[in-house]
Amino acid sequence: MTKQIHVGGVPIGGGAPVTIQSMTNTPTQDVKATVDQIKKLAAAGCEIVRVAVPDMEAARAVGKIKEDSPIPVVVDIHFDHKLALEAIAAGADKVRINPGNIGRYYVKQVADACRLRGIPIRIGVNGGSLEKPILAKYGRICPEAMVESAFQHIRLLEQYDFTDICVSLKSSNVQTAMRAYQLMHCRSDYPLHIGVTEAGTVRMGTLKSAVGIGGLLALGIGDTIRVSLSADPVEEIYAAREILKAAGARREGPELVSCPTCGRTRIDLIALANQVEERLKTVDKPITVAVMGCAVNGPGEAAAADCGIAGGVGEGLLFQKGEIVKKVPQDRLVDELFELIETL
Ligand code: SF4
Repeated sequence: MTKQIHVGGVPIGGGAPVTIQSMTNTPTQDVKATVDQIKKLAAAGCEIVRVAVPDMEAARAVGKIKEDSPIPVVVDIHFDHKLALEAIAAGADKVRINPGNIGRYYVKQVADACRLRGIPIRIGVNGGSLEKPILAKYGRICPEAMVESAFQHIRLLEQYDFTDICVSLKSSNVQTAMRAYQLMHCRSDYPLHIGVTEAGTVRMGTLKSAVGIGGLLALGIGDTIRVSLSADPVEEIYAAREILKAAGARREGPELVSCPTCGRTRIDLIALANQVEERLKTVDKPITVAVMGCAVNGPGEAAAADCGIAGGVGEGLLFQKGEIVKKVPQDRLVDELFELIETL
């Protein structure tokens, strides 16, 4: 099991539920726009948010953003330790920085400032920005090079007795990212922030993230996730929630299972599944609901579901844990299903 760190009041690692993160794309110095976006992200299910800190004005804005943010705020800093120190003083809940990029002398200052405020540091290794000596050693971007880079940063912090760390090893290549996280998982117990970076637009980016993040989660690897999409960041939260659910990493609210349809299908299953999915949005019970295309195989194939419906000609079946409850006229199927759900 990984060590546990805390970002604001949110635990990461050590068996805590896998958390969802995102990043604002408003100018951080525009406090109102940034806070508005954070509130939308939080309402969608984001639990930790990161803001870019490219200059002093942005670093100073962190304090005001923190005042109105409903969730912990992580500051994303590249190279400049002064920005880190300013953002930490302004109240940041975590710093994402690569210690190896800011010079040893300044690493101690940043580590001391974080320790004093009790906030962690994320070492954010990115395949696209590996240190030149490591790239020269391996000759290319590869998982081993990324992990070596992470350990160089880790050792720098550990030299100053700073171990309040989490690590990310992102790559836009799914296989590279997955292998890097697997290697890191074997060699370290620092919590892992997992993601596939620059994954793309909503459809392809969600698919790449589902494979990369979901695959790792299914193997028990990963403590917090960020889906990176070229889209409104709220889309990242929707995708992250679905990935967590699909990977079985976090169970909240209902899950719909529906059959792919085949030559035995006797109802308009696609419309029925969409209708049930829509109505399930108002249900928060952790149940599995099945919508199946035929009465012959449906209840049996969906025996693991808590309840469900199976279509027939003119009438269908309502079933609970694989057992038929009753026959129902087709136009009453969905209503009867939700009446049953209410009793669960
Ligand atoms: S549940 Fe029935 S209709 Fe659906 S895939 Fe299975 S056999 Fe075909």
